[in-house]
Amino acid sequence: MAFTIAIDGPAAAGKGTVARRVAAHFGFAHLDTGLLYRATGRRTMDGVDPVTAATELQASDLDADDLRSPEIAQAASRVAAIPQVRQALIDFQRAFARRAGGAVLDGRDIGTVICPDAEVKLYVTASDDVRAARRHIELTGKGHDITYDEVLDDLRQRDARDSARATAPLKPAPDAVHLDTSRLSIEEAVAAAIAEVEKKRQA
Ligand code: C5P
Repeated sequence: MAFTIAIDGPAAAGKGTVARRVAAHFGFAHLDTGLLYRATGRRTMDGVDPVTAATELQASDLDADDLRSPEIAQAASRVAAIPQVRQALIDFQRAFARRAGGAVLDGRDIGTVICPDAEVKLYVTASDDVRAARRHIELTGKGHDITYDEVLDDLRQRDARDSARATAPLKPAPDAVHLDTSRLSIEEAVAAAIAEVEKKRQA
């Protein structure tokens, strides 16, 4: 049986961790849709046309190990504003969402555009300071040479671009449950998300 959990929110709010852990808890498949835009953005850095890059995207492109860099995040956010790029990635995401056995997708437009009929919609946020601090620890832990201020700048620039674009902007679906993770541990945030899913599964 298909059951879709849509998790949206700004960069580094904790949605990826929540999505992965919720998927593991329920035995659902998980798709980090940001990787689709990152892999597309990465190819544009080699001079490939963005729409061609999105159209030719292969599942194996999502495994490239440098996709998490801030440079690629910026490239992702630029290609993500192009309507034809988003269009090229829709079918794959919708098919993933409705696969048998349940699916969790995290991104920016999952509850609004990709899966407006998702059984559960969460909108995960955290303060700018908390998001930048978490992402700074993550990136420096992976060996990136980047300051806290540079991380904060990257997040704010992407959020502004993602929220202002005309096609599928970052915004909560009207029926999304909001989860602010600023003062929550990972365990608390995951438990709150699981509780929301349980409510809908029993309804
Ligand atoms: O989630 P992540 O930070 O990896 O996403 C990278 C960029 O991809 C975002 O800043 C956003 O521009 C874009 N994105 C999007 N829609 C999604 C997922 C990501 O526009 N569903």
